[in-house]
Amino acid sequence: MSNISRKHRQSKTRIFDRQNRCINCSFLIPKKLYDKHPVEQAPMHIVTTLRAWIFPTELSPDSIICTECYKLLQKHTNAINEESNMMSEECLPILGHRSICYPCGISISRSARTYSVPHDVKERSILLESVPLHLVSRMERVCVACWMSAYREVKRQHQHDTNHSVPNVESIGDSPDAPVPPPLPPPQSEKVLQQTPKIKSSQYRRAACTSSRCIFQNCSRSERLLIPSAIKELVLYRQKFYIPNGCRVCRYHLNQGHWNELTSELVDFTGEQFDVIMTMMERAANSYLDFSNIKIMSPHLCRYFLGLNSDQFYDLLNSIPNLVDHVPNASIALSVLLVKLKTGDSNERLATLFNKPRSTIERWMGKVKSCLNDDLIKNLLPSSK
Ligand SMILES: [Zn+2]
Ligand SMILES: [Zn+2]
Ligand SMILES: [Zn+2]
Repeated sequence: MSNISRKHRQSKTRIFDRQNRCINCSFLIPKKLYDKHPVEQAPMHIVTTLRAWIFPTELSPDSIICTECYKLLQKHTNAINEESNMMSEECLPILGHRSICYPCGISISRSARTYSVPHDVKERSILLESVPLHLVSRMERVCVACWMSAYREVKRQHQHDTNHSVPNVESIGDSPDAPVPPPLPPPQSEKVLQQTPKIKSSQYRRAACTSSRCIFQNCSRSERLLIPSAIKELVLYRQKFYIPNGCRVCRYHLNQGHWNELTSELVDFTGEQFDVIMTMMERAANSYLDFSNIKIMSPHLCRYFLGLNSDQFYDLLNSIPNLVDHVPNASIALSVLLVKLKTGDSNERLATLFNKPRSTIERWMGKVKSCLNDDLIKNLLPSSK
């Protein structure tokens, strides 16, 4: 069997280390290929864009970028400089290599056989352990070696769970000469989901598992874009609404960011979905939002929380220059008020989001309001200057 498969067997879940993988597209850069770009040496504007693209994956000092992604980043940042409105349009990460097996990083564009990974098979959660967070929702197919490895791991766990009551399952496909491919996973559909036991929630709702239309009900627009995982986590965490991995959104609704308008009658969850939900909650709870620097916040999160893009935010901030004299951080204080207006969150909830006492949050909002009043009145009435 190939080298890859041997490595897979050695490290059951950690299929590949992250070394020599492009931080953006996950491409495994061949050892002999020297044209890779250490993030440490990249100019600041490239790093800022990269951060937004790969959110919530974190950069580390030894992260590298493949040449294709590096060129895309350069092109993108140049385009932003020429036309500053581009930022709000080009929001999803652009990938230098598109047909990548995300767990191992090899290209599957020319592979004769690949495996599609539906959202409710056990193999998926094993495969996802080696996939960077920003690519989780994009993983649709994997290479044969990765699928086999995950398949074996599922069998192994099952065998363990049933106390060795299933004899000899491990041997399937284990012979180096004649690998027997596991059966293709069943296509995912509501019908299949209905056959597995379900948990009914009294608090949580979910969208239907379909990629054939926009997630917003009654929307007939034709684009079917991926929903950023950061948005999925926030919608789950804040609105108790679960967006399964296969769901898609049209460009209009993606840019509008009115995620609080999502509705659904579905309240049933499979065990697998429950596990995914717990992982997403953990991530959402730990993700850190930096309202002191809106420029580096992902455009989607910006819209979600503030209802504005970053340029509009800074225009507004600059129109109240007096605010800096009244609060420790004007950008954060203005954000508090905008989040309040956009989401209608209680002050208690804002206190949690901004990790400040409620009294502080209320004082800041008061200061922003009075500065808005003063400065806007000054601007409207030139004679009062
Ligand atoms: Zn890349
Ligand atoms: Zn693979
Ligand atoms: Zn739509």
